[in-house]
Amino acid sequence: MITDPAIQTGFDVLSVRQQFPILNREVKGKPLVYLDNAATSQKPQVVIDALVDYYTRFNANIHRGIHTLAEEATAAYEATRDKTRDFIGASAREEIIFTRGTTEGINLVAYAWGRQNIKAGDEVIVSAMEHHSNIVPWQVLCEEKNAVLRVIPIDDNGELIFEEFTKLLNEKTKLVSVVHASNSLGTINPVKKIIEAAHKAGALVMIDGAQSSVHLNIDVRELDCDFFAFSAHKLYGPTGVGVLYGKKHILDSMNVFQGGGEMIREVCFEKTTFNDLPYKYEAGTPNIADVIAFGAALDFIDSIGKDLVRQHEEELLHYATNRLGEIPGLHIVGKAAKKVSLVSFRVENVHPQDLGILLDNRGIAVRTGHHCTQPVMDRFGIPGTTRASFAMYNTKEEIDALIAGLEKAIKVLA
Ligand code: PMP
Repeated sequence: MITDPAIQTGFDVLSVRQQFPILNREVKGKPLVYLDNAATSQKPQVVIDALVDYYTRFNANIHRGIHTLAEEATAAYEATRDKTRDFIGASAREEIIFTRGTTEGINLVAYAWGRQNIKAGDEVIVSAMEHHSNIVPWQVLCEEKNAVLRVIPIDDNGELIFEEFTKLLNEKTKLVSVVHASNSLGTINPVKKIIEAAHKAGALVMIDGAQSSVHLNIDVRELDCDFFAFSAHKLYGPTGVGVLYGKKHILDSMNVFQGGGEMIREVCFEKTTFNDLPYKYEAGTPNIADVIAFGAALDFIDSIGKDLVRQHEEELLHYATNRLGEIPGLHIVGKAAKKVSLVSFRVENVHPQDLGILLDNRGIAVRTGHHCTQPVMDRFGIPGTTRASFAMYNTKEEIDALIAGLEKAIKVLA
């Protein structure tokens, strides 16, 4: 009888691994064990090929050209918009804005929506587990407008304290911006409940989907969020591309973000009129090649099956949590009931950076430090953690290698 659920469901991690050429390389003479997927994922051959194919066969600027190359490039770029709409369940392609990444998507909303809608005395709510990308833009906005930034506290397990959130909501709350899944704790937040409560109080909701988009099925219509931002590079796609989803009527009503080519309808010195959605928010020549390659990444994820990947990653999370728990003096930071597949931990008397260096000597890539979530580290009274984060191509054997590496490193360092 086969007991491994991944085998039962037909998920074949070895054939998945074969599609990622980088996984064949060695680091410091050892096979690469890449456990830094929450920072960025590796890219399958089809994504690399899509980049090469674009530059080899149909590189051209998009939208305005009437020649064949421009038409082919435009069609491929716009095809990714349709794939992205389907990927997150948006109602219309106009709601999909290509950005540089999650950070730019949040900044776009803080700038274009925020400067128009936030006034003195208004309140914006974030949580204590936000990435700096979902803190600083709101802080800057609130300072500029004399508005107030409120913070939902988290408990010792790294879960949001929902009751405290509802206490923060009031008629001055204009926006709630929260992370769907924490990059440093792994916590999956109850965003649907958060959105419902915020809407009842008359506030809009922005979701930082940088981590959730790769691990969870996203349905923005079901969630009913007003904005949702994520990055292609965490989704097996290229760097330099992200997506901002916004409800059409809100995006329509907002001020522009950057001015320039593409986002205009007509320009004269007396008055400029702006282009329709989504182009209104895509000023200048976009990252054409990488958007097209992101389309290949979305096709790739579809071909593997997100549900199978989720099941595999949950197995890895469960296995890693148990095995790490066997190491004396190791404490997992972030013990939420619902987590994406990453584990942050600290080891008594050992600095995370030293651990990271010794693991790298064995070809094992983990991330150490505050993970751009300094308030989380402050909340737990620690300088940083070591984080192992898993993707579809990771294996239990790689977790065994991590455990062996940790045991050796701790012996040296503690
Ligand atoms: N939010 C979260 C939760 C993240 O994990 C990250 C990336 N580490 C970001 C925002 C920022 O994403 P990017 O750097 O791709 O803009």
